Amino acid sequence: MTTPTDYDAIVIGAGFSGLALLHHLREIGLSTLVVDGADGIGGTWWINNYPGVRTDSEFSYYSFSFSKEVRDEWTWTQRYPNGKEVLAYLNFVADRLDLRKDIRLNTRVESAAYDEDDNVWRVTTADGSTLTSKYLISGMGVLSQPVWPDIPGIESFAGEKYHAARWPREGADLAGKRVGIIGLGASGIQIVPTIAPEVGELVVFQRQPNFIVETTNETVSPEQMQHVRQTYDEIYARAAAHPFGVDMVHAEHGAQEVSAEERERIFQSKWNEGGFHFANETFNDLATNHDSSELASEFIRSKIREIVSDPATAELLSPRDYSFNGKRIPTGHGYYATFNRENVKLVDVKTQPITAITPRGVQVGDTEYELDVLIFATGFDAMTGTLTFIDITGRGGVTLREKWEKEGLRSNLGISVNGFPNFFMSLGPQTPYSNLIVPIQLGAQWLQAALNWAQENGVERIEATPESEDWWAEEVVRAGNSTVMASEGTKAKAWFLGLNIPGKALEFQVYMGGGQVYQEFCRQAAESGYQTFLADQQVNA
Ligand code: NAP
Repeated sequence: MTTPTDYDAIVIGAGFSGLALLHHLREIGLSTLVVDGADGIGGTWWINNYPGVRTDSEFSYYSFSFSKEVRDEWTWTQRYPNGKEVLAYLNFVADRLDLRKDIRLNTRVESAAYDEDDNVWRVTTADGSTLTSKYLISGMGVLSQPVWPDIPGIESFAGEKYHAARWPREGADLAGKRVGIIGLGASGIQIVPTIAPEVGELVVFQRQPNFIVETTNETVSPEQMQHVRQTYDEIYARAAAHPFGVDMVHAEHGAQEVSAEERERIFQSKWNEGGFHFANETFNDLATNHDSSELASEFIRSKIREIVSDPATAELLSPRDYSFNGKRIPTGHGYYATFNRENVKLVDVKTQPITAITPRGVQVGDTEYELDVLIFATGFDAMTGTLTFIDITGRGGVTLREKWEKEGLRSNLGISVNGFPNFFMSLGPQTPYSNLIVPIQLGAQWLQAALNWAQENGVERIEATPESEDWWAEEVVRAGNSTVMASEGTKAKAWFLGLNIPGKALEFQVYMGGGQVYQEFCRQAAESGYQTFLADQQVNA
């Protein structure tokens, strides 16, 4: 007998994942509630409203393909839409698909526990109430659990202090102030050029430089938008077939298969196109061959020297300890040129680390940098952070945190975890390293089909088998080790290996084998009657 629940499905998180899941689960008749602790929808795009926030992917493939109404009626205005525009898009999706009535904001989930006797998930929220559902789905985001650095005195700073991922909704007045920034990943490198013109003085504390692919941000013309609308099925299909989920042409050659002149010409032409075109359309082995990745590194170093007038600053901005793809590559909007401004100073805190944060500023060696504002763009506990921050408790009272600490990262395709029946993850750990819109949409559609199948076949529990977890863990390692992300990411202490968090185990947090390969595995799992997701029952459907 099935125990009655408040909802068939509860989804945690009202970002891209939550909206896609709500729409798709509704379509198969599941009563679904989306809960989110924020007071607006948008997930990562709600929370990250720091100055300069915008997509690193281009507008043409940064949206859902599943709703014709949304596709026909929504208009992007920028090649790389800013945070405000993406948020407007998500609100448009919520309104157009009538999703809002099933979204409960200001509802932070504190814990969730599986009741084995009743086959029910009990979700406890911050106000102490409990909601029950048969299915529980995380759409909590992959880079949503911010980390503050462990620097002595951080609490003592007397000025204003902001984390990029906790920026005040009303904004911050930086005009004319002495501002310091710690953290130069994709977040920090968007903040720097945006605030530099308005602040009095900007002190940029750099530990490791990044390889940044600069670009330009043109206005989208009505003709371009119309063309994208008319061809979106093809655009989406190309993005889904691309390892990194982008609508880009596959390069035919490796970087060492052409002459030095030809290589330079190709690098230059794709650098001119901007952003991820350089990473994806120049050569096909920048992520798999160390020497090729180093050739790309050297090209970018030459660009830094070309753009930045002071040679010492240019050298400091040039990564030397790891090569291209060792960190997630950020798209830049005038980042390097910002260091030609008189009010911007780059401080090397690798050779001479920050020793303390004082009430007045930042102490580096004998120098105290006096500041009015200190910005932290110091990243996230990626992939697992949101899932282990709260207690998600499965069979036998074991939490996800405990399971992964004991066994290492385990899941079947990043979707389901043994010991956690009817719990699913959108973008769980071990899902592809990609433009995330693709795995979000395809993941929601996969789950829709799986739960529909479960309903039709009287399957009460979907749960990864232990064997499938072993298989997937091995495949994640195999795929990761065949890329430069393994060696270079280790040197760079990349978040995709968990190395940005002191004490976190070195493990591939994402699948590096390519989104299209991953989707094929998902298809096979469905075609085989979800056998690898049926831990405690056999179904002869
Ligand atoms: P991140 O890439 O993890 O960068 C964190 C930065 O903080 C690094 O530069 C790191 O330096 C620095 N840092 C940490 N602790 C420090 C300390 N004690 N002293 C000095 N520096 C310190 O974080 P993120 O920039 O927030 O980006 C995370 C991910 O979010 C990105 O890779 C991307 O996937 C996503 N994201 C995407 C977009 C977009 O698509 N538009 C925008 C923002 C973020 P080290 O390198 O030396 O460790």
